[in-house]
Amino acid sequence: MTLPDWVPVREDLRAFEPYGAPQLDVPVLLNVNENPYGPSKATADDLAESVREIASDLNRYPDREAWALRTDLAAYLGVADPAGVWAANGSNELMQQILQAFGGPGRTAVSFTPTYSMYPEYARNTHTRWVTGRRAEDFTFDLDEALRLIAAEQPDVVLLASPNNPTGESLTLESVRAVCEAAPGLVVLDEAYAEFRRASTPSALEVLAEYPRLVVTRTMSKAFAFAGGRVGYLAADPAIVDALRIVRLPYHLSAVTQAVARAALRHVEESLARVDELRATRDETAGWLRAQGLDVVDSDANFVLFGTFDDRHAVWQGLLDRGVLIRETGPQGWLRVSIGTPEETAAFRDALVEVLA
Ligand code: PMP
Repeated sequence: MTLPDWVPVREDLRAFEPYGAPQLDVPVLLNVNENPYGPSKATADDLAESVREIASDLNRYPDREAWALRTDLAAYLGVADPAGVWAANGSNELMQQILQAFGGPGRTAVSFTPTYSMYPEYARNTHTRWVTGRRAEDFTFDLDEALRLIAAEQPDVVLLASPNNPTGESLTLESVRAVCEAAPGLVVLDEAYAEFRRASTPSALEVLAEYPRLVVTRTMSKAFAFAGGRVGYLAADPAIVDALRIVRLPYHLSAVTQAVARAALRHVEESLARVDELRATRDETAGWLRAQGLDVVDSDANFVLFGTFDDRHAVWQGLLDRGVLIRETGPQGWLRVSIGTPEETAAFRDALVEVLA
């Protein structure tokens, strides 16, 4: 895409493409880390009923504060005060709000690559100066390097994904604490894949009360099987939430979104029922990939990064030609596959064997 010269767009945006993985109509979709299991008929009926119930009030604006939904999310997270919970249209929107309120011109945000490729885009959109540090050679979080960069840059925002996308590594609580103690501004722990962690890996929620400038974001898009509903949420000190309320657009969460998200939360046990199975499939997939002689990064999420390939695009294309869409993302030579149903994962394995033959 090239914007014609007459389009008076910001010059710093002119050269960019809209972000996003290819949305292709193929049988096996293992590219955007969705939960492969949709809602049961009973849950889908309840979701539809929740929309029917509010349909006759759609002439009215929704609750600007999304208070009932935040109350339900607080209960799910075990957070006592819903004033310390905030929600938006996906954690993408949350992050953008965070950088609108805490980043911006003259301010700096840092993260550590390889990590979620949307972060620099939030920074660009909000005119926040973006600085990337590096993870270690094996992609693990390098605490010394992080502390060095934080000391040098004094960032207004530190963004850390845990489990990290695309590598799958979770941060230890020691690392979270050390970053919170060193960082002068906001520390955002993006826990989009939190539910897929191993039991031994703690959530940063455990130390939230100790660090008033710590924000923990979550999403209903992954384990919750609700990517189409577009709901991300966070827990933080209520005063941090108040700062986000200044930049949010009025009525940013539609009445439909709020109603459907609350209905989905009523069925949380069903949505999360497959998480154990997905975790087991993830570990099996990692083991299988290793047995093929490939390098694999240990993952706490619902995807696995594997490689390395001289021409990863050819491998990606070969899989696509066999009806399996994965993601060409992350460091050069690596590919990321989301964990699907056993049938989808088997289709991926069969296709990969053929491609690598
Ligand atoms: N954070 C991370 C680390 C992600 O991988 C994703 C989705 N790929 C998101 C945030 C955004 O998810 P959503 O906007 O659907 O909540």
